[in-house]
Amino acid sequence: MERLADEALLAGLGTGDPEIALAFVRRFQRRVFGVAVTVLGDPALAEDVVQQTFERAWRHAQMYDARRGSVRTWLVTIAHNLAIDTIRVRRPLPLDPGDLLELVADISASPEQQSLAREDTAGLRAAIASLPPAQARALVMAGIHGMTAQQIAEFEGIPPGTAKTRSGQPWASCGAPSRKPGSPIMSESSCAQFGAVADELALGVLAGPERARALAHVERCALCAEQVRQRTAVTDGLLGLIPGREPPIGFEGRMTSRLGC
Ligand SMILES: [Zn+2]
Repeated sequence: MERLADEALLAGLGTGDPEIALAFVRRFQRRVFGVAVTVLGDPALAEDVVQQTFERAWRHAQMYDARRGSVRTWLVTIAHNLAIDTIRVRRPLPLDPGDLLELVADISASPEQQSLAREDTAGLRAAIASLPPAQARALVMAGIHGMTAQQIAEFEGIPPGTAKTRSGQPWASCGAPSRKPGSPIMSESSCAQFGAVADELALGVLAGPERARALAHVERCALCAEQVRQRTAVTDGLLGLIPGREPPIGFEGRMTSRLGC
């Protein structure tokens, strides 16, 4: 079972085999719990989000598309979206400045410093390490904690405009959008309007009519669609850098019984 590829394990999860479910939970629980507890800052709420994540994976295993990323990235994205939704309803603890600095240090540590770090993360780690500290913090607050420019401004005690610039610039340094020749572009003014909400759309924190307008724009504008694609890739990369964390004692048992195994 330990030798099965991630994709095979996920496909097996849908069949309701208890051994496969346990192997699946064991393989991914540290990673998924690490993301949930980092965003939520509360182990009990994090466990709830991790349980919902595995439940969704179990229910929707057939919706996984290997062309769009690894099983790990897929799970982490589900957990991140659920954690951000939870925090929007009730932010249990204000973001702790010490935790924020520790997280920035963790995700920008070079592979030599991080024995478990994978080679493919070196580029993004280096890009984050080279950012001015205020921008690195803003990137983490926006990309991992799902904070809006307004929330970042309040946290840092800076004007919203400054927060917007700080949280917008790092995206470009970590994966600059490139305009393909001949790609259709909408009018300058509608692209500028879109640019004002692009980060929030890529992070999944944009809601309501603003979200509908933004989605309608990327459907017709290849340049802005590419910008969102690249920002989503940076978010996936950022989430992949969050250190894994051991879930609370007894998690495996609670999880597999919730999956009906
Ligand atoms: Zn556009």
